[in-house]
Amino acid sequence: MTFQDLELIEPLQKAIKLKGYTHPTPIQEQAIPILLNKHDLLGCAQTGTGKTAAFALPILQQVFLNKQQHNKYRKIKALVLTPTRELAIQISENFTEYGKFTGLKNSVIFGGVKQGAQTQELKRGVDILIATPGRLLDLMGQGFISLKDIEYFVLDEADHMLDMGFIHDIKKIVKKLPVDRQSLFFSATMPPEIIDLSKEIVGNPKRITI
Ligand code: AMP
Repeated sequence: MTFQDLELIEPLQKAIKLKGYTHPTPIQEQAIPILLNKHDLLGCAQTGTGKTAAFALPILQQVFLNKQQHNKYRKIKALVLTPTRELAIQISENFTEYGKFTGLKNSVIFGGVKQGAQTQELKRGVDILIATPGRLLDLMGQGFISLKDIEYFVLDEADHMLDMGFIHDIKKIVKKLPVDRQSLFFSATMPPEIIDLSKEIVGNPKRITI
């Protein structure tokens, strides 16, 4: 299979070529069609499999196409929650590279640093937000972030989220998301607690295991 077969739009094909990718990885082959068909996804997959592009490309495509129809200001349309600052930065860099020709803007927020630079960026407008749970709740509480326009939600590394004690934060965040959204849930392992959490986030998902 090639990236052309996946029916990705030209701005994304260009960025993929620039990255030097010739073929989609197995998770990309499976996840991209599911996500472009607007299904929820429960993915059992680790980092290193090409997971980030598997969710970033379809999200960029859908946000881009939607924005062409209702071309307005930047509102946060997609939220990616991830457990650590390092992963958040890495995911943001990936969105920037894959989205290079889309004109979409992503922003990353995480704790342990002053919030000034992050809130400045948010004020300028963001289409896609990548966040760790604590800082997200903090900035939501201060009124810098509203989740009311979210159409795409990704919970990344759910098992690590649980290990790190983020379960209550995640539940608080999910309560603030619009019910009508596409949700993606990724975890390297699927113990019963994770399955329970997934049921609160994804409704009748397509499942893939890599
Ligand atoms: P990830 O699992 O998203 O952290 O990706 C792992 C690594 O694989 C990253 O360095 C990506 O840039 C790279 N990668 C992702 N998709 C592809 C692809 N289709 N072909 C070659 N490398 C890829």
